[in-house]
Amino acid sequence: MPADARPERIVVVGAGLAGLRGAEAIRAAGFRGSLTIVGNEPHRPYDRPPLSKHVLTGQVAADASQLPSSLGDDVTWRLSIGAETLDREARRLRLSNGETLPYDRLLIATGTRARPWIHADEAKLRNVFSIRSRDDAASLRATLAAKPKRVLVIGAGFIGCEVAAVCRELDLPVCLIDSSPSPLARALGHTIGAYIGEIHRGRGVDLRMGSEVAHLEHADGRATGARLKDGEVLSADVVVVALGAVRNTEWMTGSGLSADSGGVDCDDHGHVLDESGQPDRSIAAAGDVARFPHPLYGGRRVALEHWGHAVAQAEHAGRLLVGEDLPVPYAALPNFWSIQGDMVVKSAGLTDGADAVAIVQGDPADRRFVALYGRAGRCIAAVAVDSARWLPAYADKVASGAPFPPIDTATDRPLREPEIRDPGFA
Ligand SMILES: Cc1cc2nc3c(=O)[nH]c(=O)nc-3n(C[C@H](O)[C@H](O)[C@H](O)COP(=O)(O)OP(=O)(O)OC[C@H]3O[C@@H](n4cnc5c(N)ncnc54)[C@H](O)[C@@H]3O)c2cc1C
Repeated sequence: MPADARPERIVVVGAGLAGLRGAEAIRAAGFRGSLTIVGNEPHRPYDRPPLSKHVLTGQVAADASQLPSSLGDDVTWRLSIGAETLDREARRLRLSNGETLPYDRLLIATGTRARPWIHADEAKLRNVFSIRSRDDAASLRATLAAKPKRVLVIGAGFIGCEVAAVCRELDLPVCLIDSSPSPLARALGHTIGAYIGEIHRGRGVDLRMGSEVAHLEHADGRATGARLKDGEVLSADVVVVALGAVRNTEWMTGSGLSADSGGVDCDDHGHVLDESGQPDRSIAAAGDVARFPHPLYGGRRVALEHWGHAVAQAEHAGRLLVGEDLPVPYAALPNFWSIQGDMVVKSAGLTDGADAVAIVQGDPADRRFVALYGRAGRCIAAVAVDSARWLPAYADKVASGAPFPPIDTATDRPLREPEIRDPGFA
């Protein structure tokens, strides 16, 4: 079928947030042909953000996070079935149950999985957890509810910080360990990460920054603690591994698509690229698995792990696949939020490559502030800590690439120039 012919069969691979929103966009754009969603989890699409927050505190049940959907019963769900290979020439998928599934258009939305602990045998210990799925969160919730004596969280990224904060809300002793100098240092840089670290320390989290776990100590199939590279042993009766995510691209091996552990490459429309850099106009990708050139960042290819991005890109990709004319390039402003106990961190834009940061609203001493990041004299990202109402104004500066440092001043404090600092990226 030529790329400009009207599709009759559309397949979505990945029954997560992006898969669902993409499928809804396909129907909303008027496509009435066969629409099939293939997902290797047993569940209809559910929301992941609550899994490391309100599900762990017990405020929300793990099975109560199903995403609302406008899809009707004219969609075929193939759940607990994975796509195993992709034959682009024949336009068909081979599924894990041995079936083949033909398509005219394909939406790739296979997301990411939790990066496993470095020693596979230790990852299997009964009290070692990671959180990606709702089943993961349900098991960890049950364990936390049983009041363990001490929780060890390995990895102080967003999810690690959220889990540590939940432990303190549950009044559980918790140690948060990371080789970086401060929590969130990879995402926000050490300068802002250090402020956030102080907030966690103030809430009672035992922060072990600049430390590395060599391996987990264990007995009778359970972790008893962690041995650090410097020889110190930390005891724990629950270990949570929060080392980031790996993109689910292995099933595309052999398809000729440009894909690796960092994502599947897309052009600036959202079509996937083959290994020679040519777009395949019958396939689009969206959500955590998609790596695409972002015009705000000089066309640098980025793969985001942001809820809002998964929604926006999936809506775009769904409409693209049914042949709608869309603005090029796809350029939604990245945004993210994280709830860490009673602290809410929100961001707009991407901090990567920042060469300067300034506190432009509030004051870290009050634990409420907005940090603006600059690169080569332009605003590239803003991060608000318990100051979300200020963020939209700074998001506009990021979206328009306004000069950095900003020329206006904070409205919540006396007139003064913001101090420009090194953001502290390693
Ligand atoms: C614990 C947690 C907390 C989070 N908190 C926040 C937050 O506070 N704020 C925020 O902005 N973002 C947050 N995120 C990120 C956000 O949830 C993701 O960006 C979003 O889920 C991405 O959606 P997706 O559909 O691209 O991927 P996913 O949600 O990963 O869905 C992909 C689906 O495809 C399936 N799949 C994979 N391979 C195959 C295959 N070969 N065949 C069939 N199916 C396959 C997967 O099993 C999965 O069900 C959080 C994520 C997690 C895990």
